[in-house]
Amino acid sequence: MRVLQPVRGTHDILPEEFRLHRLIGDTGAMVASRFGFEEISTPIFEFSEVFKRTLGDSSDIVTKEMYSFEDKGGDKITLRPEGTAGVARMLISGGLAQKLPLKYFYRGPMFRYERPQKGRYRQFHQLGAELLGVSEPQADIEMIALGALVLEALAITANLKLQINTLGNMESRAAYREALIKYFSTYRSSLSVESQMRLDRNPLRILDSKEKEDRSLIENAPEFSLYLDRESQKFFEIVCEGLELLSIEYSVNQRLVRGLDYYSHTAFEFTTDELGAQGTVLAGGRYDGLVEQMGGAKVSGVGWAAGIERLGMLVEKKPEVPRPIAIIPVTHVHNELAILTAYKLRRSGLQIELAYRGNMSKRLKRANRLSACAAIFLGGDEMERGFACVRDLDSGTQMEVPLVSLVDHLGRYRL
Ligand code: ATP
Ligand code: MG
Repeated sequence: MRVLQPVRGTHDILPEEFRLHRLIGDTGAMVASRFGFEEISTPIFEFSEVFKRTLGDSSDIVTKEMYSFEDKGGDKITLRPEGTAGVARMLISGGLAQKLPLKYFYRGPMFRYERPQKGRYRQFHQLGAELLGVSEPQADIEMIALGALVLEALAITANLKLQINTLGNMESRAAYREALIKYFSTYRSSLSVESQMRLDRNPLRILDSKEKEDRSLIENAPEFSLYLDRESQKFFEIVCEGLELLSIEYSVNQRLVRGLDYYSHTAFEFTTDELGAQGTVLAGGRYDGLVEQMGGAKVSGVGWAAGIERLGMLVEKKPEVPRPIAIIPVTHVHNELAILTAYKLRRSGLQIELAYRGNMSKRLKRANRLSACAAIFLGGDEMERGFACVRDLDSGTQMEVPLVSLVDHLGRYRL
């Protein structure tokens, strides 16, 4: 029955995958904390207006990807498709603009109505970071460095490439916009229907088009660099020099855009060709106009987000399965002692597996299946003398340990 299937584009995260998600999220949080970022969480749904205002009417997300509904009180609500808009909303509603600069890290589920395929889901997960209140290019360098170190800490070797570009300041963008309108208007009828719409609303976004018929036109489009004024060039130079100082390899891709009006200066993406069309793993940029666009103060911002599922496909060293210690009562007479001993050992911080039924050999089999590192046998005449028998399941060696010093003896199995 269809209702008993997960909704298309969503999936259950079983322990193996969850361990991987946790490794990725924790690594991100840990590396971000070295830069002074603190973890936050905004609600999973917001008023639809929050996303409409920040992402703009012409973005793919707003035009076709949002999960929106009216709640019982008649409010228009949207499941968050990305994290930055919620952070900007939080900055305004929480009066946080008094405390700049701010550095926030986040992770969690995002929702987009997209065509599901490998690396593209309707509920997916992101980790991300936002640096608010710094207008200097040093912030852009720091954010790219943070992204690079997160990927390094995950030991992703999948030939990741960093591409960067600049969208310049407002004046430069306006000049480039004019040039693009002029160029694409000549070929209007050859553009995809979507790009024809973009031409009227936000021509920069045409450069981001994935439609085949647009590709060759895009290749011959005028280059942004010709329209950058001195200030914009200088800003970009400082960012590039910063990356060189840190030996972070990059290439400049003039077609890389974030096509929204309030994005400015730096845009960047870490990509791989190992995930087909879903090759972008971490993407971000500077969004100086965003908070103001929402109705807040003029606050600079730089941020990025990375897809946890896509990162997960590239992490080669999967997290290890934690190995328990099994407690095995020799006969059911010792069940109570087993529960009590398990409780005490868990209280001391050890991971203890207690099978609930079966004879000794069944329980031992289960312990091996869980790749337990040791088994504690409770029963027999050792028991009467106040001892338990502890077997190391890797070496097979076995020894008698006084019940009172079990915790000390098992210390060697602590992670
Ligand atoms: P794409 O070009 O692949 O659609 P995007 O430009 O829409 O990506 P962003 O909005 O910049 O992506 O989101 C940042 C990251 O989140 C992406 O680089 C990707 O790793 C991940 N991501 C975005 N959409 C999805 C999705 N539907 N499923 C899984 N991961 C996603
Ligand atoms: Mg997308």
